[in-house]
Amino acid sequence: MTSIVWFRRDLRLEDQAALLAAVGRGRPIAPVYILDDETPKHRQMGGASRWWLHHSLKSLDAALRARGSRLILRKGPAAQVLAQLAREVSASAIHCLRHYEPWWRNAERSLQEILPVGTSLIRHEGLYLMPPGSVKTGSGGQFKIYTPFWRALSQHMPPPPPRAAPTHIPAPEAWPGSDNLDDWKLLPSQPDWSGGMQAFWKPGEDGAKERLAAFLPKAGRYQEKRNLPSIPGTSFLSPHLHFGEVSPARLWHAAMDAGGSVETYLKELVWRDYAANVILQFPDYGARNARGSFDHFPWRNMSDENVRRDFRLWTKGQTGYPIVDAGMRELWATGWMHNRVRMIAASFLIKHLLIDWVEGEKWFWDTLVDADYASNAVNWQWTAGSGVDSNMFVRIMAPLSQSEKFDAGAYIRQWVPELAHLSDPYIHDPEEFGMRPAAYPSKIIGHKAARERALAAYAMIKESG
Ligand code: FAD
Repeated sequence: MTSIVWFRRDLRLEDQAALLAAVGRGRPIAPVYILDDETPKHRQMGGASRWWLHHSLKSLDAALRARGSRLILRKGPAAQVLAQLAREVSASAIHCLRHYEPWWRNAERSLQEILPVGTSLIRHEGLYLMPPGSVKTGSGGQFKIYTPFWRALSQHMPPPPPRAAPTHIPAPEAWPGSDNLDDWKLLPSQPDWSGGMQAFWKPGEDGAKERLAAFLPKAGRYQEKRNLPSIPGTSFLSPHLHFGEVSPARLWHAAMDAGGSVETYLKELVWRDYAANVILQFPDYGARNARGSFDHFPWRNMSDENVRRDFRLWTKGQTGYPIVDAGMRELWATGWMHNRVRMIAASFLIKHLLIDWVEGEKWFWDTLVDADYASNAVNWQWTAGSGVDSNMFVRIMAPLSQSEKFDAGAYIRQWVPELAHLSDPYIHDPEEFGMRPAAYPSKIIGHKAARERALAAYAMIKESG
């Protein structure tokens, strides 16, 4: 009898409850990753995520091999592929960490229905600080607003201390067949746009450990630095967390042990838990307004060529707003964007360009290495004001004053080289000072005109709630 360990967004050996439980049973273990591009309604990974996944799987396989095991790769509808593998290896159990995206919940349900007799599915927790759905309001309901959620969750902290990776993982007598990772063609080619990502990231558990080690000495100054895009003041751990290469419990304990004032950092980590709780309540949050009145919002129509052009300029970092352009170019080059700039760029698309947040969500989904269904949807709906939490639509961020306030001069110089020669007061708004170089575009729309247009559009749905 064999145990299967089913890896998904939990590509680590340390503090991996499913793997540790399987090892604890003392039976041979077949670790498997299934690329599911076929199940209807399964949200396929974007390009940047696929690049990350390739390298992360390679790293996981190497770590397993160092412990006497290896990673089996299979492709197809996850539930069917697992049921088939369970028959092949006569599995008594499939261990996995519970996932909360709607398509993974469906897969777990379908799997239970088609499991061979004698095989059980054993689900463990470990993707979040607390299992989504388990932190309840006083009356036993689910939280919709972040602050009370944080207050309630923090009562249960700290999480249990992280557990070490197993030193040896027993192998099956014969290894079941596996796909070849390169045949999955997860890496971009023609053109290969991954050079900037390659230079900036090291996917996998070792890469996560290195990022954590670099962050901990700075953790105590997180609150002071986290909003300044010119400074690497945040952890850069989001893609590692998304792919489960480090557990949130490990980060919680590491931050507490680092000392200093880390509460702001811990609160950010809890935003991730909050987002998972929201999608558990609203599974289609990534595509559908939670606030129904937004279904009637007069967004500009993407079938209009002018609107598509504006969207393209936004994606390419050619809006004429240096802070927005710097962010969008950082995203394209590295697969990541500073959180403050994500807020500014998202607000710009929604309010200045009056383009439905769903379009921005899709672009981020494709280009972010940390693209996460829950976190992406929750942050886009939060920016739009269409979400379950408070309505932020009328908070229209002025990109130029945000740029000055958060001291983005050096950041713009790094990502918008056409403006690198400009000194600080001018770089945030070269057009205003008559210093816009010919190579840099004029503003796509003036801030005042955009603001008035957005507020007028919003007035049209305001009465309906
Ligand atoms: P740190 O500042 O070091 O924060 C620690 C961790 O907390 C992060 O690694 C992340 O896991 C979590 N976190 C921080 N802020 C948030 C937040 N607002 N919401 C949820 N989790 C948070 N984050 C994603 O992980 N995936 C996404 O797809 C994503 N899309 C976003 C879209 C928009 C429009 C906006 C405004 C934000 C989005 N974020 C997303 C949240 C945030 O920008 C990133 O998590 C953060 O920038 C990651 O950098 P870091 O690891 O250095 O974060």
